[in-house]
Amino acid sequence: MSADWAVELHGVHRRYGRGRTAVHALRGIDLTLAPRTFTAVMGPSGSGKSTFLQCTAGLDRPTSGTVRLGGTEITGMKENKLTALRRTRLGFVFQAFNLLPSLTVEQNVALPTRLAGHRPDRRRTADVLAQVGLTDKARRRPGHLSGGQQQRVAIARALVTRPDVVFADEPTGALDTTTAAEILGLLRRAVDDQGATVVMVTHDPAAAAWADRVLFLADGELVDHLDRGTADRIAARMTSLTRPYEGAAA
Ligand code: ADP
Repeated sequence: MSADWAVELHGVHRRYGRGRTAVHALRGIDLTLAPRTFTAVMGPSGSGKSTFLQCTAGLDRPTSGTVRLGGTEITGMKENKLTALRRTRLGFVFQAFNLLPSLTVEQNVALPTRLAGHRPDRRRTADVLAQVGLTDKARRRPGHLSGGQQQRVAIARALVTRPDVVFADEPTGALDTTTAAEILGLLRRAVDDQGATVVMVTHDPAAAAWADRVLFLADGELVDHLDRGTADRIAARMTSLTRPYEGAAA
């Protein structure tokens, strides 16, 4: 990737509705994320995390401001171009895995390449499946796999196109603690060993502790960040966000 920043947001606002009932979900987000970094986004319910992820990943459009991914401005891009960019240059991992049940594991992993109109590269598919430890499940269907294994497939699918940015929305929300740690370890390795850039929304301080930096959203604004925080420190910072007066008194 030639750009200096994997992700750039300048003055991003997202307002739902108009007039007196308008909701200001994002109130001027300015942010740059370097390539090969793992960023977690946390904040109380309703603070704007989903809106942030949707606007940053080109799934929703800001009311004002600009978003650049890998140096390409996506704000104002036509829908078909944006769809093509999402397929080739972004990866997605969701809480609910979102695999296609009728396709085998390797077909699911090859899907983004196919949707982008390219012939799947069998070696690349095999490589990413090996990376997530699922070589022996390539011919199985998702329904035969555990939740953790299904999320591994989703990670392989997200990485197969060597995207500029992987967006993960509560990727461990449906998993037990041990399985969650395995999944987070894979995202961490994707950054450290494969040079991926990961942006992950989570409510779990233990998950956020795998990131290089945690960004804290409150009421549509980035109000704080913590670098290489432990789960305890991240949890304490979250508590001070949700109970600011007690935090200030402490
Ligand atoms: P979070 O993910 O942190 O819970 P959201 O981004 O979902 O926060 O929501 C931020 C604010 O925007 C909330 O007040 C929410 O009610 C509002 N909101 C989100 N989506 C919509 C929508 N489609 N229409 C109206 N308000 C919305």
